[in-house]
Amino acid sequence: MNPPALNPYLRVAIPLPLADLFDYRCPEAPVEIPLGTRVLVPFGNADRVGLVCGYRQKSDLPESRILSVRRVLDEGKPLLNGELVALLRWCATYYRHPPGEVYFNALPPALRKRKGRIPAEPVEYCLTRAGSERLELPVGKARRQYELLEMASSGPLTVERLRAWSSAWTQVSERLVEQGWLRKNPSSRAAIRAQQGPTLTAEQSVALAAISADLGKFRCHLLDGVTGSGKTEVYLRLIVDVLKAGRQALVLVPEIGLTPQLIRRFSERLGLQPAVYHSGLSEGERLRTWADARSGRARLLLGTRSALFLPLPEPGLIIMDESHDASFKQQDGFRFSARDVAVKRASDLGVPVVLGTATPSLESLRNAQRGRYGWNRLRQRASGAKQPRWQVQDMRTVNAKHGLSEPVTGAIAATLERGEQVLVFLNRRGYAPVLLCHECGWHASCRQCDANMTWHRNDRVLICHHCTYRQPVPHLCPDCRADALQGAGEGTQQLEQLLGQRFDSVPLYRFDRDQFSRKGSFEAMTGEVRKGQPCILVGTQMLAKGHHFPAVTLVVVLSLDQAFYSADFRATERMGQLLIQVAGRAGRAQSPGTVIMQTHHPDHPLLETLVGEGYEAFATALLEERRLAKLPPFSFQAVLRAEAAKREAVQAMLERAAACCVHGEARVHGPFPALMERRGGRVRWYLLLQSETRSGLQQSLGHWLPQVSALPEARRVRWSVDVDPQEF
Ligand code: ADP
Ligand code: ZN
Ligand code: ZN
Repeated sequence: MNPPALNPYLRVAIPLPLADLFDYRCPEAPVEIPLGTRVLVPFGNADRVGLVCGYRQKSDLPESRILSVRRVLDEGKPLLNGELVALLRWCATYYRHPPGEVYFNALPPALRKRKGRIPAEPVEYCLTRAGSERLELPVGKARRQYELLEMASSGPLTVERLRAWSSAWTQVSERLVEQGWLRKNPSSRAAIRAQQGPTLTAEQSVALAAISADLGKFRCHLLDGVTGSGKTEVYLRLIVDVLKAGRQALVLVPEIGLTPQLIRRFSERLGLQPAVYHSGLSEGERLRTWADARSGRARLLLGTRSALFLPLPEPGLIIMDESHDASFKQQDGFRFSARDVAVKRASDLGVPVVLGTATPSLESLRNAQRGRYGWNRLRQRASGAKQPRWQVQDMRTVNAKHGLSEPVTGAIAATLERGEQVLVFLNRRGYAPVLLCHECGWHASCRQCDANMTWHRNDRVLICHHCTYRQPVPHLCPDCRADALQGAGEGTQQLEQLLGQRFDSVPLYRFDRDQFSRKGSFEAMTGEVRKGQPCILVGTQMLAKGHHFPAVTLVVVLSLDQAFYSADFRATERMGQLLIQVAGRAGRAQSPGTVIMQTHHPDHPLLETLVGEGYEAFATALLEERRLAKLPPFSFQAVLRAEAAKREAVQAMLERAAACCVHGEARVHGPFPALMERRGGRVRWYLLLQSETRSGLQQSLGHWLPQVSALPEARRVRWSVDVDPQEF
């Protein structure tokens, strides 16, 4: 048989914001470089790391201009397998993002560099027969060696264990290996030793059976369960089955949800340490997890959005917890929806994907209602705890001091007297959202954004929460020189001060981003709260997610009314989700909980539906509104965003783009200013492309974008495309 016809040219992705792949010649033809291998290639006047992602018989370039690959960086197995290469290629096309950036985004940062190599498989040190004989003899002079042998006599020693023992562990252990007393083995795969879980509730059993029936093939399951209904318990059972079947499981959680608490729960229950992957880890740690996923050593992978692209040579299951969470959508650079790509990847891999949440996104809910996803509902709390009672506090009819109504203050006092805990939710950090002059009406606004500066009284600064610009707090009004500057409105710091004065006999804990710049302090604080003594928790949405505070029986929501005025059609959906998530913190243990929501719109129909009938009824009503307005999920959108220092440049570009020919179904609307027109000193506008079908939108984009890129105006602004955008 003849050798397969060789493609003389490689298609190489280079991590640059360029729409193309580049053609190179194989250095040592006829040996083909496998797909997914990193190569060093000459590019411009430097060498760069590239990734082989295709082959070509003919190039569009003249033969003389095609350069050769300098060096193959990955010998042996290619870095990315065919499945990942294909998935990333699909992503680049679907999201219209430069392929080089998409491929390299999927690599751990260490492997984006030319020196980066896959680390060797970890080893462990085992005692040999000669070693145990040595242990029979007296200790002698080499005390450290003897100590290590003794440690090894109770089981193989991992590198982590040795490192913890002594910084000189390498010398000592190598010496023992030379003497034949220890032997280096590739470290064994951690085996699962699952603890017995609680007996499942009827609802959990039904959901588990339905999802288990689909193990081994693709199916998307919505696990639509109220907070505390035992979704995590269902995940754990599925993971045990998948791991026992010799397959890998990937669990994705929101950025804010990956707490040591969760990792502990998984490892205690499964008797196996999950391999963790997120952007907060060091380069070395990320590389280790990635390499272990690829070699199959890691069986359970737990991470945030970026973990979606971990290699899975033996895939069994993908789980996404809190799947409605906004952090699953990447909002800059390669703007992808991890939820949508997870479903696509599961389908490619032929494994089930579970989307767990108490508040499904409207997109997921509609897919469940149409029967495209399995719909598994958990409506009861697993521990037997009751659902919280809701109260709506009409703010138009009561006295309120600094945003706290009298009935709410009374309810807080009563709860603390009973020895229980209170959570007060306010989604605004800082002391006051506005600093205002009571003489002339001047207020501190950001010089770079269309936004007010937030007063951070503790640090004596004004900070813009949109661009992080800071400036000192003026003593006098910069306009009229009056000594009349005051805060308007409340932030968490003010609430902390206020509640601290009113309820000075109990501890108060503030949870927001300003509080937890130091690592570990968050854990320390949640630990204090979990001891169960009466206290007040004040915080932002940091408190809304995933944390289990069994002694909290009263949740107060100060204000979510802004959503009713927002121009973003998703604002009400997000408000409902946040409200239900916060409310879910109440009464998770035996004592029933109460949620009080302060509002100026107590008779808003959507709010009445949410409070009276629950999230599903609320979301169904919202879906009906979206259907009538032909908004997603009843249509498909993409936006073309442009920004520049000057409005004229932005408008000129978008007007030219809007005038380009759009073939197919999609229609172009706009240009419109972004919801915050000026941010970080740049003016931002967008065009909206909308179509009734996903394929129609894709087709139109494919025809339209090349024309847009070719516009001379496009070179004078910064522009980007966002497919299935979540923000405007
Ligand atoms: P969710 O992930 O839906 O918020 P969890 O899985 O965290 O819910 O469960 C909430 C609480 O109920 C946890 O303390 C958990 O240990 C407990 N729990 C879960 N399933 C059961 C069950 N079948 N029987 C008793 N307790 C359960
Ligand atoms: Zn003034
Ligand atoms: Zn700003």
